[in-house]
Amino acid sequence: MSLTEDFLTQAEEQKVVEAILTAEKQTSGEIRVHIEEHSDVEVIKRAQQIFYQLEMQNTSARNGVLFYIGVRDRSFAIIGDSGIDQVVPADFWECTKDVVIQHFKTKNFCKGLQEGVLRAGEQLKQFFPVTGENRDELPNEITRS
Ligand code: CA
Repeated sequence: MSLTEDFLTQAEEQKVVEAILTAEKQTSGEIRVHIEEHSDVEVIKRAQQIFYQLEMQNTSARNGVLFYIGVRDRSFAIIGDSGIDQVVPADFWECTKDVVIQHFKTKNFCKGLQEGVLRAGEQLKQFFPVTGENRDELPNEITRS
């Protein structure tokens, strides 16, 4: 089993996907989770590369959010698209990041991601409430590399 598969069991992965579904019901924002084994690129830069690889910029309000995890590097980042950065304070994701990292420290990876994703949904709701049909613009499945 690879490190990225080992990071979350299939059942845990399903719980995280359910958290994404729950979070996205409250907001037009779109959340994705990507798990990578290793990268030499600095974590924020790497998260931005993955963001574009996953074509997460393809939302009408530019309000996609990526949770990036580097398993071997023990790295973690949350990044939002330009539509979010324009309207939220610079430290917007810090509290959510802290919550996730606290759980990661005790190896509760599933719980960390579930809570982080739900919290991100609550945060997004304040700036990107649901108006109209709230189409699912990006897949909810976790991706790996
Ligand atoms: Ca989605």
